[in-house]
Amino acid sequence: MTEAGPLILVVEDEAPMRRFLRVSLTSNGYRLVESETGQDALAQAAARNPDLILLDLGLPDQDGLTVTERLREWATAPIIVISARGQEEDKIKALDAGADDYVTKPFGVGELLARIRVALRHKAISGTGGSQFTAGDLNVDLGRRQVLVRDKEVHLTPIEYKLLTTLIKHAGHVVTHRQLLREACGPNSSNQTQYLRVYMGQLRHKLEENPSRPAYLLTEPGVGYRIRPRD
Ligand code: CA
Repeated sequence: MTEAGPLILVVEDEAPMRRFLRVSLTSNGYRLVESETGQDALAQAAARNPDLILLDLGLPDQDGLTVTERLREWATAPIIVISARGQEEDKIKALDAGADDYVTKPFGVGELLARIRVALRHKAISGTGGSQFTAGDLNVDLGRRQVLVRDKEVHLTPIEYKLLTTLIKHAGHVVTHRQLLREACGPNSSNQTQYLRVYMGQLRHKLEENPSRPAYLLTEPGVGYRIRPRD
């Protein structure tokens, strides 16, 4: 028999959605714990120590944002929030509160599985403290602070370098505008999204072969940015 797959805590109050997730995940080798409320989710997360948490934002007893905040007081497992259309504001708040990624209903199984794989891989990588980041032609040596594109060194300004390393730290995951500005530019800059667009444009011109159709530095419309790790 195959060894036990990663354990996923599914927090979702709608039965059809839970059934869809159960079928999709168990048929792909994942083990499941299910919760219908935020209260139960917190208890299950503590009792079962899941490898990943799938969290619906619209729960009957408390909102997913509160659950995310409570989980992040101690849990390190990646959190992927499931949002419905019209919950954009909550989705961004959940990411700011420490969620790692999101999927928007309706979503396909393929998309969900890809997000889960990235989140679990990132969890494994971040534990090893690797100092190299590679994505296609882009190579960043974090120890030597050296950025290479197609083997040629690229010079970045301090702020561009910080934005890049912040995205690398969360590779594969969406980083909100606020989070990026706070981590890269300091706590007082989190409302300066217009500058962020300019810096990201500069960064793309230096790193991307075609800055208007970026291959690595991806825009998450209305939310933030994401760097695509090596596939
Ligand atoms: Ca719901």
